[in-house]
Amino acid sequence: MLVQITPPIGPRNMCDQFTNSPELRQLNRRCFLKSSTLISALGFLNAGLFARSALAAEALTEEERNKMSPDDVFNAAKAGNERFQSGKHAARDALKDQQATASGQHPEAIVLSCIDSRVAPEIVMDLGIGDFFDARVAGNVISGDVLGSMEFACKEEGSKLILVLGHTGCGAIKGAIDNLQLGHLTKLLAKIRPAIRKTVFDGERSSKNPAFVEAVCRTNFLLTIEGIRQQSPVLEELESQRAIRIAGAMYNLATAKIDFMS
Ligand SMILES: [Zn+2]
Repeated sequence: MLVQITPPIGPRNMCDQFTNSPELRQLNRRCFLKSSTLISALGFLNAGLFARSALAAEALTEEERNKMSPDDVFNAAKAGNERFQSGKHAARDALKDQQATASGQHPEAIVLSCIDSRVAPEIVMDLGIGDFFDARVAGNVISGDVLGSMEFACKEEGSKLILVLGHTGCGAIKGAIDNLQLGHLTKLLAKIRPAIRKTVFDGERSSKNPAFVEAVCRTNFLLTIEGIRQQSPVLEELESQRAIRIAGAMYNLATAKIDFMS
């Protein structure tokens, strides 16, 4: 999150835009705090105008993260994608985020996503350095290493959300459908095969059919979530205690919209 001062013009700033959005209470609170600090420090400026022109969004502190519920984190991710879709990004200063997090990080979530270059979680959810742990692997499948990373994020570091993020047009899904054989990739794609078998679909079951590929993507992240619960007693317990939320989501490459599912 960052603090940025823009010229005192324009009808609304990011803080104002989301004042009434319950899912952004946390961001709003931080916007307010940072604006207030700046106003105090620069009291010779018109406070009213300045408040409307100052946008603050910066890396989470531990206290801020701990006050968020798993649902707050989930809703903040949704709101971030809405900002991304609209082009009304929260202004951030990556270098300030880097400096703020150099001595410690407090990410609110771990996102398991595909390696696809078009689906960078922080970008498509309009967040920045220090907000997410990222686990990225082709086809967003799990392994012992990925589960261990999730356990570290949630149990050791206090993250509140595990988000499994699939996407339309996934090359890994297409490769699995086509039974692609290639070095280590063969073993990875085998993990997607159950999703192909379990996808109920009327129509052409081919990698050339985007609707079928998307249907398999959805089955795949649902099975991934099931696998997380089944294979990690640590995470299953955290979820049953409501300390974390495990959710799936689907990013649409064409529309930039993420379809969030519980
Ligand atoms: Zn992919």
